[in-house]
Parts: sequence; structure tokens; C-alpha cells
Amino acid sequence: MNTLETRYVTILKDIHDACLSYQRDPNDVRLLAVSKGHHYSSIEQLYALGQRRFGENYLKEAFDKQAHLSELDIEWHYIGSIQSNKTALIAQHFSWVHGVDRLKIAQRLNHQRDNQQPPLNVCLQINLNMEQSKSGIDANDALTLAKEVAALPNLQLRGLMALPQPESDFSAQQKNFAHLRQLRDEINASGLNLDSLSMGMSNDFHAAIAEHSTHLRIGSALFGQRPN
Ligand SMILES: *Cc1c(COP(=O)(O)O)cnc(C)c1O
Repeated sequence: MNTLETRYVTILKDIHDACLSYQRDPNDVRLLAVSKGHHYSSIEQLYALGQRRFGENYLKEAFDKQAHLSELDIEWHYIGSIQSNKTALIAQHFSWVHGVDRLKIAQRLNHQRDNQQPPLNVCLQINLNMEQSKSGIDANDALTLAKEVAALPNLQLRGLMALPQPESDFSAQQKNFAHLRQLRDEINASGLNLDSLSMGMSNDFHAAIAEHSTHLRIGSALFGQRPN
């Protein structure tokens, strides 16, 4: 087996084992292979091994890959920050968008999503650590935004996403993820039905699984260090 295949098999087993130890159904935890910065041939390799969900941050790079891989039945997830002049392209070329944090962006995506396509799946990005420099909406404003986004017909509000500050300590990681899970539960208690928690990356996905992550966004642990 080559390195990518070895890493892939190892991560899948790791995720599976973590699901069993935290009483999670492995079918409820999806791996997004974050392929940003890597050649489309790596995507082809993982596809051949059965991987179908891929996450990209940079539009130009993503379109380039999509053009090369148009024959493959890939579910593309946009996981980067969203500038308002890029919403039309995002609305048309992805199945999921992780990282909506403003109504204006949601409205544009809703307007620009083709009616012939299924609704665009959306996760709202929450700024858990209240870092001013980071994108994401304040947790206190999440319910209001969730209700507004849920009302948009061409979007399907699926859940919440977070990119917490890196922690090396498991319990610190878990605390952030528990916060996101609790926020999702509160939003659902007021009548919405969010089924997704997009959280957990290469260095903290075990803690994310423990706190009911449904979408792990894993890049470097799978593809290796990103080229600069
Ligand atoms: C790059 C990126 C990831 C993957 O990070 P790794 O640490 O390489 O696993 C996940 N989510 C987002 C939003 C990213 O930008």
C-alpha cells in the first residue's frame, strides 16, 4: 500500500474505533477528506478506495479539480470563508457549505442556487472562542440566524460548524466541541431540526467524535503536510 492508502485505512479504523468507544454509530460520522493544496490525483486515489466526500477551501483550485474529476460521483463541500462576490460560484458548484456566518451570505446563496438543483446544505459557523480575528457568528446570535436561514427555500440548514482554536489537551478540545453540541441542542429545542455537527480536524477528531460530531474535516492526517 502507498502512503496515502495507508493513512486512509488507518484513519478509517481510528474513526471506527473511536465511534465504538464513545457509543456512536459509525454510520453517523462522515469523513470529509480536506484535499486543499493537494493534486487532484490524490482525490482520484482516495475515490478508488471508496471515499466520496471532499472538502475544499480555495475556489479556483476547487474548480480546477472539479473539471478534471467531473466523471466521478463526488460530493463537494466548501469549507472556506465566504466572500459575498463568490457566493454565485459556491452556490452552483458545491453540495454543502460549511461556514455561513451572516444572513446576507445566506440570502445570496439562496438566490443564486439553481432551482433545478437540490437545496444547498448549510452549516452555520460559530465563533466559539469569541476571537475577533476569526470568522463565525457569536453563539448568542446563532438561534436568530438559524431561524432566518431555515426559512430560505433553496438552502437546507443542516447544522453548526466550528473551527476552535487548537488545543493539545483532550479535555480542552472536548469542552469546545461540547459547547457546539449544546448550542445545536438548544436550537433544536426551539423547533428547528439540525442533524449535523461539522467539527473535528486532524489533531482533535477523537474529542469531536466523543461530542457527537457528524462531519470530520480531515486534511493533513490523510494527505500529509500541505505544500506551501
Ligand atoms: C484546512 C482545514 C481543515 C483540515 O485541517 P487539518 O488540520 O489539515 O486536518 C478543516 N477545516 C477547515 C475549515 C480547514 O480550513
